[in-house]
Amino acid sequence: MLKPLNVLFVSSEVDPFAKTGGLADVSGALPQTLKELGVEVRIMMPKYGAIDEGKFRLHEVIRLRDIKIPIGDRVEKGGIRSSFIVGQRAKVQVYFYTHDGFFGSRSGLYVDPATKKDYPDNDERFIFYCRGILETLKRLGWQPDIIHCNDWQTGLIPVYLKTFYKNDPFFKDVKTVFTVHNIAYQGSFPAPSFKKTGLPQELFSPKGVEFFGHLNFLKSGLVFADIITTVSERYAVEIRTHEEFGAGMSGVLQKRKNDLFGIINGIDYNVWSPAVDTLIPFRYEPATVNNKVENKKALLKKLNLEFNDSTPVIGIISRLADQKGFDLIGEVADELMKRDLQIVVLGTGEKKYHDLFESLKKKFPSKVGVYLGFSNELAHLIEAGSDMFLMPSRYEPCGLNQLYSLKYGTVPIVRATGGLDDTIEDVEPKSGKGTGFKFEEYKAPALLGAIDRALKAWRDQTLWRRIVKEGMSRDFSWESSAKKYLGLYRKLGKKS
Ligand code: ADP
Repeated sequence: MLKPLNVLFVSSEVDPFAKTGGLADVSGALPQTLKELGVEVRIMMPKYGAIDEGKFRLHEVIRLRDIKIPIGDRVEKGGIRSSFIVGQRAKVQVYFYTHDGFFGSRSGLYVDPATKKDYPDNDERFIFYCRGILETLKRLGWQPDIIHCNDWQTGLIPVYLKTFYKNDPFFKDVKTVFTVHNIAYQGSFPAPSFKKTGLPQELFSPKGVEFFGHLNFLKSGLVFADIITTVSERYAVEIRTHEEFGAGMSGVLQKRKNDLFGIINGIDYNVWSPAVDTLIPFRYEPATVNNKVENKKALLKKLNLEFNDSTPVIGIISRLADQKGFDLIGEVADELMKRDLQIVVLGTGEKKYHDLFESLKKKFPSKVGVYLGFSNELAHLIEAGSDMFLMPSRYEPCGLNQLYSLKYGTVPIVRATGGLDDTIEDVEPKSGKGTGFKFEEYKAPALLGAIDRALKAWRDQTLWRRIVKEGMSRDFSWESSAKKYLGLYRKLGKKS
């Protein structure tokens, strides 16, 4: 019998507590699956102001109070509250790292809702977080075999382990995995931020945590973690071999080629399945997929659009960021609106895209429905009520909504990049086999071409139903991906 592994899963957002994107979905679901596989996994995240302590039954851990963390010349104190994620089959302990000034008094995660800009002290907030986690573990006396770090917010943990805690017997056998969910977000701060980390000066160099004169949290993770993973096989190759995809880090990744792995994200079918979804009015499964149309009616009603059985609804749920390809939609919008279709958009982000969708709504009020904000409930209804789902991303590390769409019988139209390319099978014109519609070139006509192919297939409802059922039959549950992580954890254990 193998000894059970202790894994600390560190993230800056975890569903259902705090979420801005896919990282939260992964951080909520993967640990539960690992637990089912016998891993003793615990989660650590910041306690943001928006996390409801009553609802989630957070309680203070008295012995983990007043953990002192130096930030530059001053010392800040953190503490811990604790709760659980109670899933269908597993219960996972979650530690919330507390600090009133940095987290508790703020409702935003990284961006100040008042200014719509990053908090100016994000460097200090996440230096405090990274160091605080290690100090907390010591105080707690719980020794993980693996610390699984996620994205830039956790990027200093590996370097701290390899400097300050190098000779600390408590951390002697601890290994780190660093997962990149999106390499474009790097946590890059001007040089003076480096001093606040307390790290030895020689690390502020190209071999260390410096990147073009800045302190770069993500680079620290890439250089100092024992293993690096990212969220699809194709993205793992893209970021290592293309400067543009790698957002400057291809060279760093090339050096770590043998330690870089792509593992596709799974999805949590206890949360995202139309058969059990409590947030949609009409549940369905492949045999009862005809019920889907009732959700379509509910969705259109909610967005004040008229229902027409033969008009397909294209759904979009997204952070409104350049990455997601909405400039292409802007380019083809007028042409697109000549087609018999309706579009529903749920998103929040950059102002230019808010303006784009607002103006489309104004220009085509009977064809476009828009909700510019964050709504988990509406996200579920859009998945259940749309006929097609559009993700024209410039790049996409994994993408989750195309996977949710498959399960909901909502046919994805995607650009062939990253995880979108790995998970969607293009419908073959002759055989009609496949699960969605893909386009290669990041150009507006290519996007339009894919939408037109989808519309053509829609008009042949026998073919359409086959594509829908094909997609619904695909299995992207977490188990096989979680087993791959477990394999890496074990591999690291053997290296020691
Ligand atoms: P990313 O992590 O780049 O944002 P993913 O496709 O991996 O993209 O994950 C996005 C997740 O965030 C999905 O669960 C999606 O439903 C959710 N989401 C994005 N924007 C919104 C929004 N405005 N309201 C509700 N959920 C959203």
